[in-house]
Amino acid sequence: MDLFDVYPLVDIKPVRALGATLWDDKGQEYLDFYGGHAVISIGHSHPHYVQRLTEQLQNIGFYSNSVRIPIQTQLAHKLGQVSGYEDYALFLCNSGAEANENALKLASFHTGKTRVVSFKGAFHGRTSGAVAATDNPKIVAPFNAGHAISFVDYDLKAVSEILQGGDVCAVIVEPIQGVGGIIMPSDDFLQGLSLLCGAHNVVLIADEVQSGYGRSGKFFAHQHAGIRPDIISVAKGMGNGFPVGGILISPALKASYGLLGTTFGGNHLACAAALAVLEVIEDEHLLAHATELGHYLRTELLAHAGALEIRGRGLMVGIKYGFPIKKIRDKLLTEHHIFVGNASDPAVLRLLPPLNITKAEVDRFLAALYALAAEKIETV
Ligand code: PMP
Repeated sequence: MDLFDVYPLVDIKPVRALGATLWDDKGQEYLDFYGGHAVISIGHSHPHYVQRLTEQLQNIGFYSNSVRIPIQTQLAHKLGQVSGYEDYALFLCNSGAEANENALKLASFHTGKTRVVSFKGAFHGRTSGAVAATDNPKIVAPFNAGHAISFVDYDLKAVSEILQGGDVCAVIVEPIQGVGGIIMPSDDFLQGLSLLCGAHNVVLIADEVQSGYGRSGKFFAHQHAGIRPDIISVAKGMGNGFPVGGILISPALKASYGLLGTTFGGNHLACAAALAVLEVIEDEHLLAHATELGHYLRTELLAHAGALEIRGRGLMVGIKYGFPIKKIRDKLLTEHHIFVGNASDPAVLRLLPPLNITKAEVDRFLAALYALAAEKIETV
């Protein structure tokens, strides 16, 4: 059987990785400034992470949610403590799309309403419900057409007008748009949005699947604006490569048996991976590190990258050029052996290095980028 051919693939076969370094089957070394779409938060194969997963696998790898799984409770406590959401509850699933599906469903159950407000350029996943909350026509299937979704700009007046219709269950927002090109709604906007949702009894969902887990320098990117959303969806960096996702749920939303469900969500191995990530974030002070190195990286880029704009916070960085970045991205990989990402906007280079990236590794990336800028690579 062949693989279903839906991804354009570069001809590199990584076989080993440590920290921000990957090696392919020919022994070539690569620097990872992308972490497989923001997944690698504490670095590849971190020793503490490997140890926790290995020990867990030797004891029990999986049993279903029909029994008590102590490590789930341990994870919920630790996540509450590290994130500052001790009074919220945790529902565990397996991916970002699933987290958003559950968040939207819960909001709809809670309010008895169906309309969702989402923002232009947003990305919330590719499953049926979540896909309906994105405006990318390429990934919206015909059956999604029935959903009542309103797409708006970051404009409080526009949101307010829709909320006055009285049929909205949720507003879903990425505190920093990832796939869209590292676009940040202002802190004022997020504060206004939170107030509006509160006033209309609408559930505010912060999609922190990409921007969460320390990526922005705070545990959650919305914490820069000082708001407390009703539901926060997480995945990607949560498991550092092990598929795990979840939603953090405000005490105002009540649980009942059968409301949400999953087979694999919160399995022993996923919880071991997620706990290891939180322990490393805490032990290695990765929020402070991401703030510091993110500041250094953006300051350098502002001065020397020759870009139109440097976007983002912490180690979630977008470099907006005045031309498509495809050639820069290709040359960084083939000539300098550095992985970086792209975005829906073809002129944005997306950087999502591990949170424990070193200054020497940042300097190596910058030197490569400047070398390409000196070659005036965009015109090649
Ligand atoms: N939300 C955001 C903000 C994302 O960036 C992504 C993935 N790019 C998703 C949801 C979907 O996550 P997953 O691919 O794990 O389903």
